[in-house]
Amino acid sequence: AEEVHAVVIVGAGMSGISAANKLSEAGIENILILEATNRIGGRIQKMNFAGLSVEIGASWVEGVGGPRLNPIWDMVNRLKLTTFYSNYDNISSNAYKQKGGLYEKSEAQNAFYAAQELSEFIKNVSKYLKAHRQDDISILASQRLKNQVPSTPLDMAIDYIAYDYEFSEPPRVTSLKNSIPLHTFSKFGEDAYFVADPKGYESVVYFVAKQFLTTNESGEITDPRLLFNKVVNEISYTKNGVTVKTEDGSVYRAEYVMVSASIGVLQSGLINFKPDLPPWKILAIYQFDMAVYTKIFLKFPDKFWPTGNGTEFFFYAHEKRGYYTIWQQLEEEYPGANFLLVTVTDDESRRIEQQPDSDTKAEIMGVLRAMFGKNISEATDVLVPRWWSDKFYRGSYSNWPIGVSRLEYDRIRAPVGRVYFTGEHTSEYFNGYVHGAYLAGIDSAKMLIRCVKHGDCCYSIPPEGS
Ligand code: FAD
Repeated sequence: AEEVHAVVIVGAGMSGISAANKLSEAGIENILILEATNRIGGRIQKMNFAGLSVEIGASWVEGVGGPRLNPIWDMVNRLKLTTFYSNYDNISSNAYKQKGGLYEKSEAQNAFYAAQELSEFIKNVSKYLKAHRQDDISILASQRLKNQVPSTPLDMAIDYIAYDYEFSEPPRVTSLKNSIPLHTFSKFGEDAYFVADPKGYESVVYFVAKQFLTTNESGEITDPRLLFNKVVNEISYTKNGVTVKTEDGSVYRAEYVMVSASIGVLQSGLINFKPDLPPWKILAIYQFDMAVYTKIFLKFPDKFWPTGNGTEFFFYAHEKRGYYTIWQQLEEEYPGANFLLVTVTDDESRRIEQQPDSDTKAEIMGVLRAMFGKNISEATDVLVPRWWSDKFYRGSYSNWPIGVSRLEYDRIRAPVGRVYFTGEHTSEYFNGYVHGAYLAGIDSAKMLIRCVKHGDCCYSIPPEGS
């Protein structure tokens, strides 16, 4: 007779592995994890760049130093990964004008003070909307209320660093009520640590995986319950069970399935559900946003940028919002390697993914010449990750747009019969983050455990405003 697994888990990123671990802890061990690529970790991925290991996906542990311990920070410390505190305090001294030269320190500082006041103001607007049960508005709409819409290159760059650099979408799109204040910072703390370790940030996923998957003497995962290069393209579900099909023609049967693929993948139709998911589910999935965040790494023969205390982060204020705005010099992280990191998001990311890297490099060299002079050396290497074009991701992480209520958000996570969902986009409070993916895996597994072990298969959506 054909084997029937208790649970098939689609995807071996942080959330899928975390869910599988929780299920194993509860004694549900007859599981099968199907992963489309040839590795675990998903959007936490290291890559060799000019002989060193860099993170093309997640790189920070965000939410450190607050009232509760971020579980990812705990793992990073147990694993003794090398991390660097990201200090933005001095960034106003490192503000470059479009045509070159630094802004006067006082001018940049005043712009930062104004932005700080504006951010305090919009926090209060958010509080007010919640207290008075008003509809949601965008971050931009809340800025308009103060008649302070960032519109000069300097103000737009500062605004970009405050919002787009975090959410990967502009304030025009992002939900005020659900993003300000952000649970990640209020629960776990305001600090962020940048991971730069040859073992890779993905070590945290291996750390969780090794709690329940068998390994050989060299520590490699050899567990037959984890299969690679298995692209799930069909999930059929009935009252009695599920059938999961992969692109290579394999068919797997199970009592339940847990889907951890990104919300971008769910929106793309890569996985065909039979019967179709119900309208309430489809509408919830398609309303949420998959944002795009692109970390471009560059290597140079020499350093032509300032180094030392307070220089790590610098920015370029261009009339086109988000045009190669935020820069990081990685001298501390990669001494002597002459690495720069520039980040783009959203439309710029999508534009850059579609052009040859040589064009992107030429644009970047133009920006660097504006900042540091015509005689600087050319980059010898450039790395442009393409998360948006990748059919197994379709972007970098989810962002909460205006127009999605808490109720609709909870519907993204809600199971449909025997089909369960997990992933960072299902995290109750931390969508978009590594800790969100980890905690979502635990929560989704708990939901499934209640059903399997206690027959409690009803998912009740928490009331609005809870
Ligand atoms: P994924 O990692 O996407 O895992 C899902 C898995 O499913 C993948 O392995 C995928 O290959 C697989 N899959 C997809 N489709 C199929 C299919 N049809 N069949 C089988 N398998 C499939 N978070 C932070 O906390 N700090 C940061 O600094 C940070 N920066 C980021 C920067 C970038 C560029 C990116 C991309 C992400 C960043 N994040 C950051 C977000 C963080 O990486 C994610 O929230 C988290 O890793 C998502 O985990 P997940 O398990 O939900 O999804």
